[in-house]
Amino acid sequence: MTLREIVDKSRRIVFFGGAGVSTESGIPDFRSEDGLYRQKYDVSPETMLSAPYFYSHTREFYRFYRDKMLPLHAQPNAAHRKLAQWERAGKLLAVVTQNIDGLHQAAGSRCVFELHGSIHRNYCLSCGKFYPASFLAEGSDVPHCTCGGIVKPDVVLYGEQLDAPTVQGALQAISEADTLIVAGTSLTVYPAAGFVDYFRGRDLVLINRDATPLDGRCSLVLHQKVGEVLGELPSYLPE
Ligand code: NAD
Repeated sequence: MTLREIVDKSRRIVFFGGAGVSTESGIPDFRSEDGLYRQKYDVSPETMLSAPYFYSHTREFYRFYRDKMLPLHAQPNAAHRKLAQWERAGKLLAVVTQNIDGLHQAAGSRCVFELHGSIHRNYCLSCGKFYPASFLAEGSDVPHCTCGGIVKPDVVLYGEQLDAPTVQGALQAISEADTLIVAGTSLTVYPAAGFVDYFRGRDLVLINRDATPLDGRCSLVLHQKVGEVLGELPSYLPE
């Protein structure tokens, strides 16, 4: 069966995505040939994006974070836009994403479970005051709140727990889906990668440039670009 045929008959699609969904918006992923992990740093990106490193090397954390993790000018691509249209058309229940860039919401998606948080939410560690991403982008050192506390991005750093209500919502949506489309993820970051095991529906579809551990379990595997693949499909919205 083709992806078009699967999507045509689906009524409760859930999309589970990762960094590869945003590469066509110009944001590098982590593990591709041109991904962040292939670039050379004195300290590995996993270490720099860990909670212990944030608290012990806050200045160095922010140097890396500002340089690599704040793509504020990136725009949604054809994949983000099509998923938002499917939600409006009543075909898609939810987007579950490992991304922190906010591009699904920028495209108009409303039900988005951000498993790893968002660069668009930042909080003072002392008083909890909220700051937008522009506050971090404009500064050049450790960002401080008006109260003097350090401002931390609401992203899940290595070593931190996922937000429990977000996890619960994501698992609920996945378990209610008739079709699960997994795309742009190497499926190597846990616990997120294990979420696909909660799928009980009919068609498990994988759209990923490189092979993943899930390929053998899918009804359909497309080793293609997700924006190009979804961009070809109908919006299912009335003309
Ligand atoms: P990953 O880097 O481990 O894997 C990305 C996968 O996407 C690769 O298998 C690659 O083949 C595939 N890919 C790349 N471009 C693609 C495209 N256009 N179409 C289809 N497939 C494509 O990413 P991951 O599994 O999401 O894990 C990385 C972690 O880093 C996640 O937790 C994520 O939150 C974070 N991250 C987020 C962003 C972002 O918010 N945009 C960017 C980089 C990393």
